[in-house]
Amino acid sequence: MSKLNISSLVFAFACLALQFLPIFTVGISYPRRTLRESKTPIPSVQARPGAPFRIAMFADLHFGENAWTDWGPAQDVNSTRVMSTVLDSETPDFVVYLGDLITADNIPITNASLYWDEAISPTRTRKIPWSSVFGNHDDAPFEWPLDWFSAPGIPPLRYPASHSSASGEEACYFGGTSRLTLMKKEIEGNELSYSRSGSHDLWPSISNYVLQVVSSKNSESPLVYLYFLDSGGGTYPEVISSAQVEWFQHQLAEINPDSSVPELIFWHIPSKAYEEVAPKSGIDKPCVGSINKESVAAQDAELGIMKILEARSSVKAVFVGHNHGLDWCCPYKKLWLCFARHTGYGGYGNWTRGARILEITKDPFSIKSWIRMEDGMVHSEVILSS
Ligand SMILES: [Zn+2]
Repeated sequence: MSKLNISSLVFAFACLALQFLPIFTVGISYPRRTLRESKTPIPSVQARPGAPFRIAMFADLHFGENAWTDWGPAQDVNSTRVMSTVLDSETPDFVVYLGDLITADNIPITNASLYWDEAISPTRTRKIPWSSVFGNHDDAPFEWPLDWFSAPGIPPLRYPASHSSASGEEACYFGGTSRLTLMKKEIEGNELSYSRSGSHDLWPSISNYVLQVVSSKNSESPLVYLYFLDSGGGTYPEVISSAQVEWFQHQLAEINPDSSVPELIFWHIPSKAYEEVAPKSGIDKPCVGSINKESVAAQDAELGIMKILEARSSVKAVFVGHNHGLDWCCPYKKLWLCFARHTGYGGYGNWTRGARILEITKDPFSIKSWIRMEDGMVHSEVILSS
């Protein structure tokens, strides 16, 4: 959910002002930014021979929540258990971390990547490849609790010894670990990470990239394209920008111009279209899901991404996290809008934890989804390819 503090607003405004400065000062038309041509091949994940391709989505893990207490680290242990249970029962081919891996605004250490690394460790341990997108809590600066400044003072910080490596001046700076650094650390340290930092032209949004799932027999034959977008939040507004929309269009034209290959889209914060399809109370057909306990907390603005998606017959579904109390999929025009399922013990809400699973089958082509709970239960099965 949204937690944009005053300093982030000031920062975002300053960034916007800087961008528009040339227009205000010289009054001439500003050249349209030219997006870098995508010349590099699209990274491929290969399906296993004779088996459907299965993806597990881990949403809103919120590692590092209340990191200075006994309660906080215990939640991280619980979240690790949920992921381990899901990975062992579903044995997915790929994992998508759908944002808010960490609650950076609760992490009083310089290097929040240490918590990020904990969040991906159950997947890495099982040698399963993965990719990640950012949520609104991942790069947030630390928010000092007011009660630390009353008589009892700042409590002793309680996190694993390996988390307290900073010293001197560094140890006092909790300004948040930037998206770029978090992503750089993930990619550098992990050969199974398929995450990318995206095009520099899309700054300040980072997790924008494309992957393809290819068949076991023919690596030239994509089964499905997976598009990852950074929906903002944290140090800048919660939005998919016009520059991202332009980049996305460019990718589509280059990669899948005739829409012949099905496409799936992943980002963290629901777009406003989710508000349009949200079930009013219970979840009735054609929507499928099990919890509908809060209102959709949508992005700050809709700047064109949905127009592109709804016009493409190849786009089958969008997957988001962010709302911990929602886990439904609802049809929207020709595609499906789906929430994942709150996976982490960090973050608000006590709804039982689980993970949305996707299964892509080649012959005949189908995309099926369901939710796997921590206790092993499976529910909310839905076909997304029809
Ligand atoms: Zn969250």
